[in-house]
Amino acid sequence: MKTTALGRIALATGITALTAGLFPASAHADDAVVERRTLPVLVEFADSAFQHPDKVKESTPETYFGAKKDSLASFFTELSRGRYRVTPAVDGQYAGPITLPMDASCDASKINTLTQEALAGQGLVRGEDYDSLSMVFPAQKTGCDWAGLGSVPGPYTWINLYGTDSGLGVVGHEFGHNLGLGHQTRSLCADGDLAGCETAGTSAKSIMGGGGPAAGISAPEMIRAGWLTDGETVKVTASGTYTLRSLHGEGDGVRALDIPMGEDRLVVEYRHAAGSFDQDIEGVHAYRVPGGDYGASTLIDVTEANKTAGNDAPADADAVTRLTDRASKVSLAVVSSGDGRAEVEVALDGEALSTAGKTPEKTSAPAPEHTGTDTDAGDGLPDGADGTEVQGGGQGQEASGTEDAGNLAATGGDSGTLPLAVGGAGMLVVGAGALLLIRRRKQA
Ligand SMILES: [Zn+2]
Repeated sequence: MKTTALGRIALATGITALTAGLFPASAHADDAVVERRTLPVLVEFADSAFQHPDKVKESTPETYFGAKKDSLASFFTELSRGRYRVTPAVDGQYAGPITLPMDASCDASKINTLTQEALAGQGLVRGEDYDSLSMVFPAQKTGCDWAGLGSVPGPYTWINLYGTDSGLGVVGHEFGHNLGLGHQTRSLCADGDLAGCETAGTSAKSIMGGGGPAAGISAPEMIRAGWLTDGETVKVTASGTYTLRSLHGEGDGVRALDIPMGEDRLVVEYRHAAGSFDQDIEGVHAYRVPGGDYGASTLIDVTEANKTAGNDAPADADAVTRLTDRASKVSLAVVSSGDGRAEVEVALDGEALSTAGKTPEKTSAPAPEHTGTDTDAGDGLPDGADGTEVQGGGQGQEASGTEDAGNLAATGGDSGTLPLAVGGAGMLVVGAGALLLIRRRKQA
């Protein structure tokens, strides 16, 4: 039987009590380095074991803690610029396999309870011995309509493992939910006025918005995670022109403008290739942050470029050049953009932009600030994966509500909303739904 959105929310409510108090509502980046002792645990069912347990045992430490750029630890270290560290909670880096006293099922709550009981029997207690628990189990008989599930925020992830390695595309996304991040959608505001926007698809600017690991996460999500210092985020209180450096680049400088927009916030970033990130994202982008919930931002797209992570639209196809929110009397215009920095003019209180009518100056061709050597990172698939990653689905079945509600968000959709699988490692965004990463073995 399929788990309905309501079912998931109910289930999530049950888990709220477990997660309450573990996570602060917001985090602050300055100086603090957060270390998360993470415990992947291999879990089998009474009626279903891993088909290739040795390969799962081999891939698990690599996926979570490996030195390569496509491990979870490397991903978060680079993304947070050293502020957030995922470290192994146990010497062997993972626990299990544990056989749970239950048949294969998608009952995430039951899997969680029984797994924690079994771990406690081995002397591993949550909060004392580990902070984050990632339950990895064979997908063959579970019937789950998702490849991964993560509590929002919280310490739990569930990996419904197809094949032998879920890869960073799924694990990184679920751990993003644990940071308090929901799915990142796209708002089409075709006439450049934010009054008449329609939600359509995903941002493609974040691993939480169908962008895969190569997109990292966006500026509002970096704020939610606590990975921008106060000096890196300017809270705009007056009209003026501001200089941004690239969100994921090295060095110091302002990386986000945080602008009041009625009850909401408008967060502006500049994206440019840096390290493992943004090889295919360039330019100034803006996000609406509803009611100050930085984990629930949506990309504001005033173009008709239909840029996705999977098509070949130019890297800056949906970059902002100017936009206006008449309701809150906020306007912005990009004065210049390129080569790792951008200048953005912001006008508050209905004041006029001095750059009105001008086309922003583009500073030469985008060039990476520094180039990573591991070109694998970011395609969402591990080396030699036999999986196919597709995206699609409907956000109706997602439970990514308020950040303090402690709920679950699935990676996956029900079969009615899933797109056809695409060949190879391609990515496909389908329909106006959200951002689900489903990993499936190819059909035999
Ligand atoms: Zn998700």
